[in-house]
Amino acid sequence: MKAAVWHGRKDVRVEDVPDPPIPPPGQVKVEVACCGICGTDLHEYLGGPIYVPAQDPHPLTGAKAPVILGHELSGKVVDVGDGVSRINKGDRVALCPIIGCLECKWCKSGLMGICPNVAFLGVSWHWGGFAKYVNVYEYMCYHLPEEVPYEVGALVEPFAATVRAVKRVGVKPEETFAVVGTGPVGVMALQAARIAGAGQIIAIEPAEKRQQLAIQCGATAVIDPVKNDAVSEINTLTGGEGVDVVIECAGLEKTGLLAGHIVKRTGRIMVMGVFEEPAVFDFTDLVYGEKTVMGSMGGYGVFDDAIQMMAKKKFNGQPLITGKIKLDDIVSKGFDALIRFKEKHAKILVIPD
Ligand SMILES: [Zn+2]
Ligand SMILES: [Zn+2]
Repeated sequence: MKAAVWHGRKDVRVEDVPDPPIPPPGQVKVEVACCGICGTDLHEYLGGPIYVPAQDPHPLTGAKAPVILGHELSGKVVDVGDGVSRINKGDRVALCPIIGCLECKWCKSGLMGICPNVAFLGVSWHWGGFAKYVNVYEYMCYHLPEEVPYEVGALVEPFAATVRAVKRVGVKPEETFAVVGTGPVGVMALQAARIAGAGQIIAIEPAEKRQQLAIQCGATAVIDPVKNDAVSEINTLTGGEGVDVVIECAGLEKTGLLAGHIVKRTGRIMVMGVFEEPAVFDFTDLVYGEKTVMGSMGGYGVFDDAIQMMAKKKFNGQPLITGKIKLDDIVSKGFDALIRFKEKHAKILVIPD
């Protein structure tokens, strides 16, 4: 089969690799329908290895570079291994990419995403979604109802991550939210907040296309932090108080600082952005304002909730899909397009052939 394989920094090749074997016990084989390109893939492409095991095999899975990338996928189950009971041949599924040891206290308490030996499909696993087939554990599969098309199904993974983040940070009815950075994750986060009952949802985003996307997906106001002073704009919109909750989705020092300054006293900040470097934060303000900062890792535990929101059409996925490409074009029309024309794109889906 054809697959997009990470060999090294700036070295992702579409090449022929062997098909996955008949699934071993506890695993199933999925024929990939769509697989979204994620910021993580771009980080591995541009600056990796970050999570790709390049030197030593991954301690849990034994996977080692070169690895097939791709972890945001939907598809159809075409074969099941021994002992698989919940998933059947022909099922439509979305996949959770998190692979835990299933033995540590975190895995046992339902927090597989923070397992010390955690591995990920499409990063530190033998198979990845930028290919025709993947073998995965049964527990990674979530049923996708007919109402959710495969294209939207490829958004389950990133959307579930935002559903979980919103659940962790909590929403009281009519609370005011701000989302800093409305790329794909930010736009999904604002939808998750809207569905959970948030009142005013303010998007803070400099790129025009992404501002429009935010409005289309439920933002009640947009602030351009380059043209305007975001802190005073927020004060105007919130009667001088600041917002109840900020979801930080940009991962920059300045946006982290901004998040701290626009949240009201006793407010909460949820960090979803991936910071490439440790960043400075105004901790004194945190103390004086009795503010809370927290993080959230992946969507483990809320996949079915996220899928239900899609099935009931509460989640609007189509505006997020700004490109559909073939596997052969993944570098030029996928990675490079996302890097060079970042503002024009949200999600690009790869359709393997
Ligand atoms: Zn991702
Ligand atoms: Zn574990």
